[in-house]
This record gives sequence, C-alpha cells and structure tokens, in this order.
Amino acid sequence: MSLASSAMVVAAKGFEAWSRTPVETRAAALEKMADLMEAKRDRLMTLLAVEAGKTLSDGIAEIREAVDFCRYYAAEARGLFGEGRLMPGPTGEENRYRLRGRGVFVCISPWNFPLAIFLGQVAAALVAGNAVVAKPAEQTPLVAFEAVKMLHEAGVPEDALVFVPGDGRVGAALTGHPHVGGVAFTGSTETAWAINGALATKRGPIVPLIAETGGINAMLVDATALPEQVCDDVVTSAFRSAGQRCSALRLVYLQEDVADHLIEMIEGAAKELELGDPRLTTTDVGPVIDAEARDNILSHLSQMDKLGRIKFAGKVPGGALSGGTYVAPHIVVLDRPEDLTREVFGPVLHVVRYKAKDFDAMLDSIAATGYGLTLGVHSRIDATVKRVVDRLSVGNVYVNRNTIGAVVGTQPFGGSGLSGTGPKAGGPAYLQRFALEQVVSINTAASGGNASLLAHSGE
Ligand code: NAD
Repeated sequence: MSLASSAMVVAAKGFEAWSRTPVETRAAALEKMADLMEAKRDRLMTLLAVEAGKTLSDGIAEIREAVDFCRYYAAEARGLFGEGRLMPGPTGEENRYRLRGRGVFVCISPWNFPLAIFLGQVAAALVAGNAVVAKPAEQTPLVAFEAVKMLHEAGVPEDALVFVPGDGRVGAALTGHPHVGGVAFTGSTETAWAINGALATKRGPIVPLIAETGGINAMLVDATALPEQVCDDVVTSAFRSAGQRCSALRLVYLQEDVADHLIEMIEGAAKELELGDPRLTTTDVGPVIDAEARDNILSHLSQMDKLGRIKFAGKVPGGALSGGTYVAPHIVVLDRPEDLTREVFGPVLHVVRYKAKDFDAMLDSIAATGYGLTLGVHSRIDATVKRVVDRLSVGNVYVNRNTIGAVVGTQPFGGSGLSGTGPKAGGPAYLQRFALEQVVSINTAASGGNASLLAHSGE
C-alpha cells in the first residue's frame, strides 16, 4: 500500500473516535496549540526564515496569524457544533439541527505561508470533527512537521491528524482516494483545476472542495489620492515578502495626470529596500522560495526587457549571498493592462496609466481577468470608491491602505472566480463547509403526551 493510501486508512479509523470527541475538547486542543506556538515563537521564526526565506517581521506576522486561526476557529466551533440548534416546529415534536464532521479531510497547502495556511486549514477541519491527512508544499515540510508535532502535543490524537509530506504526485494520490471526505486546498489555479477534475471523476461520495487560489491583483489610484500614502502602500503591497503573497499587488493603475510623479516616488522608495539574509533585522526583502521560482520570474522580466518595458530594476545582493535565489524589486510599465496575462509570483510591480474618462473601461478590464482576490483603491472621493466596489466582485477590497496582511476574524480572506471557491478563511462561514448537516426529528408525544406542555401546565 502506498504511503498516501496508508495515511487515508489510518485517518478513516481515527475519525471514528475524534468525531465523537466533544467540541469542547477539540476547541481546547486548538487553544493549547495557540499557547504552544506563542511559547515556541523563536524556534518557529527561525524555521520560517531558514526554510521559507521569511524575514523576521514576516515570521512574526505569520505566527500571529496562525495563533489567531486557532483561537478564532475554537471560539466559532463552540457556537456551531455540540448540542445543535432547536428548530421551530409543532408541539409534540422536537427538531434539532446540528453539524458534525464529514470524514477524512485532505488538506493541501502552498509554501508561501507554510505555518499559517497549513495550520488554518488543518485547525478548521479538526475542530469541525474531521480527521485530517495533511500534505504541505514540498518546499516547506519542516515548518509543517513542527506544527503537526505541536498539535499532537496539544491533544489531537495521532490517528486524527496524519502528516504526509511529498510533492504534487502525493497530493494527487490523496485527492483521488475513495476515503476522501473533503479537500481544503490553497495554491495555484492550475492545481485547483486538477484537484477539481480528480474529485469529479472519482466514483464515491461527492465531496466539497475548498480552493483558495491566485490572482492578478490590481490597485486603482486616481488624481485625488495622497501621493505619500500611495507610495508607501504600493511598495508594501508589491514588494514585501518578495511579492510572494497571494494578496500582493501585481498591477497598479495610475491616473495619467499624476502617474509620472507617482512612478518617480515609488521608484525612489523601492531603491531604499534592503535585500538580503532574512534572518537579519535590517533586511526588508528576502530571497524567493527556490531556483525554479526565481527563473520563472526572471524569464518574465527578460521578455519585458526585450519589449523595453522595464522602468526600474533593483540590485540583488552580492558577496556571500550572490548564489542565493534573490530577485530584486522591478517596476514594469505596460501600455495596456491586457499585456499582463498571468500571476507573476515575485517582486514585480506592473504599472499602467489611464485617462479619467476611461475609468469604466478600466474596471471592465479588471473584471475580464476572471480573478477576484484582492483590490486596492486610492481615492478621496467616496462616490469613486462606491463605483469600484459595486462593479467588481473581488473578495477583499482595501481602500486608502495597502492590500496585504488580512487579519483573522476582522478581514476574512479569499476570492472568487479564478481566485477560489470560498468560504473565506478566518471568516464566519468557513467551519460550516467542513461539516455535514443533520436534523433529528423526534416525536416527543410518542411517550404518552407532550411532556414539556404538561410540565408548563403545572406551573
Ligand atoms: P501549487 O499549486 O504549485 O502547489 C500547492 C500545493 O498543491 C502543494 O502542496 C503541491 O504539492 C500540491 N499539488 C501540486 N499538484 C497537485 C495535484 N495534482 N494534486 C494535488 N496536490 C497537488 O502552488 P504554490 O506554488 O505552492 O503556491 C503559490 C500559489 O498559491 C500562487 O498562485 C498563490 O497565489 C496561491 N496562494 C493563494 C492563497 C489564497 O488564499 N488565495 C494563499 C497563498 C497562496
């Protein structure tokens, strides 16, 4: 039997006991996990820097998010699971609606948030009463393994959470397995299509796929926006974490009346970014995840260079770091938004100028990409902001601020269309998707009368 198959069999057995464990115990395990992560923050930050190239401030933010997921889902689960809800109905009948685990959830995560996304999926599936087979990205198994060991220490039984490292082939074997009760996936749109196809052709229960995928995230800046604020927010959104956030800004639309001035300011700020070893407090931008990712971004930049589109190219670090997988921040000026046809997952900011009279056409061009993950709007005109929000069904819209760093429970995160299925991670509708609904209707009069009415009549 393959490793993937054995893991599914173990977890199917583990589900029997875990699904019957009271929600209070499951929620308490997540809270213990949150405490453990806070206690072991230094170790986790080191692992995040060494394995995933995360800067120290990105590491702190990621641990914060992972802790928030645990506490938020624990609190939500207590309200949703357990005794269930009494539904209205006729006298002599009790109708109780409740949620329960679905079975074995396969959780497949990307490398760019190896702790927070990995754990967010796993924590939600577990607290909803599912057993989990967790497959991290092949680039970041160590952070994920650390998280799994800590969850076991926090009280999750070993057969309720089974760790299966490996690449896409392992992921495909897991999602094609007959025991799958649901899949939580975060990664590229291409992989989500592959998983969707595998689930569709599988003969067996029809199960949910929760997919969070990529985006060509835009920001619109009109002539009323405050230039200094735009500059800060563009640089943070496009270059922080070396542009390796799904929420990162890829394409900024600048109203032509202010565009030259803004580009000059953004370029000046980008020049100040310190590239280097992510373990140093002075570093703003670390390496990209691996050589394949670097070459992918560089091949896009070389195409742009041939077309004479590169406006600014930062410098990669030399000396001892010269062999590292660094890509310096770049600014690419396009003639038309349609020239950017795919998500370039790195520190590359694309810029297009627009005329005020073409505002609606610009909104149409954003909608036409089919993605809908994050969107930024910089304007001091409320009616403009409303026009944008009404026209575009993007998952997370940020007004007069940067577009990254969604906060669990405050800014539930996730997109639509090519960017994902929803429900949003860290939001009030998330846990329900991991659960089965059940209604139990009891004829309470069968025992000789409606006991509750009799009880009331005696009062
Ligand atoms: P990826 O799709 O290459 O890999 C993601 C995971 O899927 C990995 O664990 C991989 O091993 C696995 N996988 C690959 N092929 C598979 C298959 N056929 N069946 C099952 N599993 C398979 O993505 P990546 O490069 O790791 O991550 C970057 C992408 O993730 C970007 O597109 C980014 O936008 C997206 N992302 C989205 C969100 C979000 O919340 N919307 C968050 C983070 C990253």
